[in-house]
Amino acid sequence: MPMSGEFKDRLFPRLPEIAAHFGTPFHIYDEKGILETGAALKRHFSGIPGFREYFAVKALPNPTILKLMQSMGFGFDCSSRAELTLARKIGAGQQDILFTSNNTSQADFDMALENGGCILNLDDISLIPKVPVMPETICFRYNPGPRRTGNAIIGNPVEAKYGITHEQVIPAYRAAMERGATRFGMHTMVVSNERNYTYMVETARMLLTLAADTEDALGIRFDFLNIGGGLGIPYRPEDTPLNLEAMGKEVTALFKDFEEQRGYMPALFMESGRFMTGPHGVLVTRAINHKDTYRRYVGVDACMSSLMRPGMYEAYHHIDVLGKDSSPADPPVDVVGALCENNDKFAVQRPLPPVEEGDLLIIHDTGAHGHAMGFNYNGQLRPQELLFHEDGGSSRIRRGETIEDLFATLTFQENRLKP
Ligand SMILES: *Cc1c(COP(=O)(O)O)cnc(C)c1O
Repeated sequence: MPMSGEFKDRLFPRLPEIAAHFGTPFHIYDEKGILETGAALKRHFSGIPGFREYFAVKALPNPTILKLMQSMGFGFDCSSRAELTLARKIGAGQQDILFTSNNTSQADFDMALENGGCILNLDDISLIPKVPVMPETICFRYNPGPRRTGNAIIGNPVEAKYGITHEQVIPAYRAAMERGATRFGMHTMVVSNERNYTYMVETARMLLTLAADTEDALGIRFDFLNIGGGLGIPYRPEDTPLNLEAMGKEVTALFKDFEEQRGYMPALFMESGRFMTGPHGVLVTRAINHKDTYRRYVGVDACMSSLMRPGMYEAYHHIDVLGKDSSPADPPVDVVGALCENNDKFAVQRPLPPVEEGDLLIIHDTGAHGHAMGFNYNGQLRPQELLFHEDGGSSRIRRGETIEDLFATLTFQENRLKP
């Protein structure tokens, strides 16, 4: 079940007016849905006093959305200087930002340590001497390698570029201690878009075991364990959603066991992106053309500059045609944009009700890794973003790009190196 029936019932009757007012195309995000998912996350992990979600900024890097996260007490997982800048602009402080970069540059470190710093999550042991000033709290990203299997999306941990190996764990924390770190966290992320919650339970178990072993070897305690993001959402109508309640119960039980054996309970951090916002956003686009050749095509006024996932991963995004029954009456169609790439298709051979020019198409589940992954190849522009409020009103929270935006980098200082 993609977009919830409840969101649909609130949004669809208003869509003609919203489209007429703001123009198409646009991504629109459901404030109510995001707040409800955040509340559910907090509720199901309330048995772990230190639980905190650090929203993965890359999923939906819009300041208005980040403020919603902030209102729920969430922090931010940033992995680039731009993401750090966004989080700080809305007032996120040192304890509110996790910096989970990889292949980290000196410029990244410098910015991460500005403004009182943040929680540094180091991706490699070789980076320890490169941190300009070792902060009090340090975290390492752990890659279990052959000890775990990832899922189909994230691939085999042995082939993943992220994290330190099992053998590097104790030397890494020891080296950080020698440079002055006194508080510790441990992070991992082994799956992506995984709806089987038992993966997350196994991840928590793995980190708790490793934390205990590291504590025994070095005499350090872990302030927090971070199980990463990767909680999946149902993109297809027949997909079953992740069982958050069962995940919360089982992970909490593991943390309670740890507390009984060790006399303390570390905090649990999570950095969900997709799960927090994915189902709470849709891309609304208007049908502008029809084409009957070897296949049937519906041309819309958005293209893969607004949503890369179908073209890039052949990802399924459910599509509704506003005001038309979802039972298909026509032969299947390809829903296409205007980019000169044949994978610029939102759907391939999709059974849809008959689409007429002027119809509004609603492409589901674009609230995470949607607008954010957009790009400008072929001079295509990224669309505006809107927020659908609880009271039924809507606000623009980012304007659409203009052609002038594309040319901004063509204004520069002359610079010629003489031969
Ligand atoms: C992308 C990413 C996330 C968020 O992943 P989701 O699948 O959106 O939950 C979290 N942590 C890190 C380090 C990431 O790179």
